[in-house]
Amino acid sequence: MRANTTLVSLAAVVEHCRAAASSTGPSPVVVFDLDGTLFDNGPRTWQILVDFAEARGNAALRSALDALPRTGLPYLLRDVLARCGQADTELAADALAFWKQRFFTDEFQRFDEPVHGAVRFVRALFDAGATVAYLSGRDAPNMLVGCAAALRRHRFPVGIPRTAIVLKHAFEDTDIEFKRQAVAFVGTLGAIAATFDNEPAMCNLFAAHWPQAAHYFVHTAHAPDPPPLHGAVSTVPDLRHE
Ligand SMILES: [Mg+2]
Repeated sequence: MRANTTLVSLAAVVEHCRAAASSTGPSPVVVFDLDGTLFDNGPRTWQILVDFAEARGNAALRSALDALPRTGLPYLLRDVLARCGQADTELAADALAFWKQRFFTDEFQRFDEPVHGAVRFVRALFDAGATVAYLSGRDAPNMLVGCAAALRRHRFPVGIPRTAIVLKHAFEDTDIEFKRQAVAFVGTLGAIAATFDNEPAMCNLFAAHWPQAAHYFVHTAHAPDPPPLHGAVSTVPDLRHE
């Protein structure tokens, strides 16, 4: 199958998985990143900044946050602060340290909101017989519990057969090195049908590693200075499939 040309529509991914699951071949596997792919982390950052503004008694920031949409925020914290009229570099450094202590924890993941269509799409894939692998640069020691809770709360399939959560061993591991190593394990779950990520570098890694699969770049927010997207990767704005 030249999946990247035939499975451009997300509905076609569901139908492909339904057909593959009913055949005698290996189980179809769909790989999802979490941050920026299944979840919009904007509300997590927004809440941390509210706590920061209140802890520092910064009334201007606090009221600016009330006027700021919580979803679709810029990737970099300093750009979020700039939108709130806070361009001071010392304040930005203070806010970044405050944010880092909270963003990568179990507790604050509950504020994340699913990307448009994410829950329905993942559930449709699962119901069609696909194995769903959540492959995320969140780290297991600090984030697994909150990660599982957020997936379950939003009714993503999790903790049951044909699902897997694969996270980093340690916060310090880089996301790209982690995913480079993790693809070997994820490949043992079945035949990779499709992958979804909001980072071009990850999409490119998957496209090179699984040339038979369909690959999707979810165009939300991503790290600065991304590499050019691999030619086999399709771009989608969100995960609405119907
Ligand atoms: Mg991501």
